[in-house]
Amino acid sequence: MPFQDIVDLEVHRGHRRLVGLLARSVDRDTLPPSLIFSGPAGAGAREAAIATAQAINCLSPKGRGESRDACGTCAACTRIARGAHPDVLIVEPGDTGSISVDQVRDAIDRAGYKPFEGRRRVVIIDDADSMAAYAQGALLKTLEEPPPSSVFILVTARPDMLLATVQSRCPRLRFPATEEGAVDTDAREIAQRVLDQVAASRQPPERLEAAKDLLAGTGGSNTGAEDRAQMSSHLQAMASLLRDVELLSTRADARGLANADVRPDLDRLTKAYHGERGLRAFTAVDRALVALDRNASVKIVADWLVLAL
Ligand SMILES: [Zn+2]
Repeated sequence: MPFQDIVDLEVHRGHRRLVGLLARSVDRDTLPPSLIFSGPAGAGAREAAIATAQAINCLSPKGRGESRDACGTCAACTRIARGAHPDVLIVEPGDTGSISVDQVRDAIDRAGYKPFEGRRRVVIIDDADSMAAYAQGALLKTLEEPPPSSVFILVTARPDMLLATVQSRCPRLRFPATEEGAVDTDAREIAQRVLDQVAASRQPPERLEAAKDLLAGTGGSNTGAEDRAQMSSHLQAMASLLRDVELLSTRADARGLANADVRPDLDRLTKAYHGERGLRAFTAVDRALVALDRNASVKIVADWLVLAL
């Protein structure tokens, strides 16, 4: 399943930002040697890992930059989809329900060889959290000194079950659950309003007013999973807007905009968040999402974010 097929699925529209990021990294050959794709079951993290393997090793790739994609039909693409490509290894739990240290060692051995046919060897470890601590320890050394021409993608619904040392070696891409992934208009309006308010003021007290908007719809309990999910949808919408701002500020190209239907708002935001500030804001939103994943209080995250934007 190439990237485009993932984005075409209505339920995965929200993955456009992530898929664009992956496509661009594959195109520029800047994909990190190890990654975590996290997301609940059905969110498409495993499919995205396979699409990444295809985009890397496709024999007739299409497009450039964020549009880079596999063809989906060549011998490499079809063999990857069938799990039969010599350079793409998928490791998953066996009958015991866990991934054994032998499976991990075998994958490490194979990752050490040069690719047989493709550009890079890709090792996809699905349900990576089912690796015992011992197996994760065996993997850690490889993550610290990754063999050249190989990419490890750890797919997991429970990234926090991975050893902290493993987590710290692997940049994480979060695939939101289906409902959150869909374009959420309310969330986008809130995100847009907060970005506008923050852009209009450098004073902390006024910015902290904007944090209240960001907390809209949360019960204020600050600890509930539902509050964090609500807040997370606001932040996902904000990340999506900021990604569009980055697109517009670098090449004023409307193709690939996730929020093309609110173009005048995007143009206004681009004036405030172009260049380095936009990048800083994008990074701040990402940090806020990580904090929410780690069960931080929604209020603390909202207050921190409006000051960091
Ligand atoms: Zn292909």
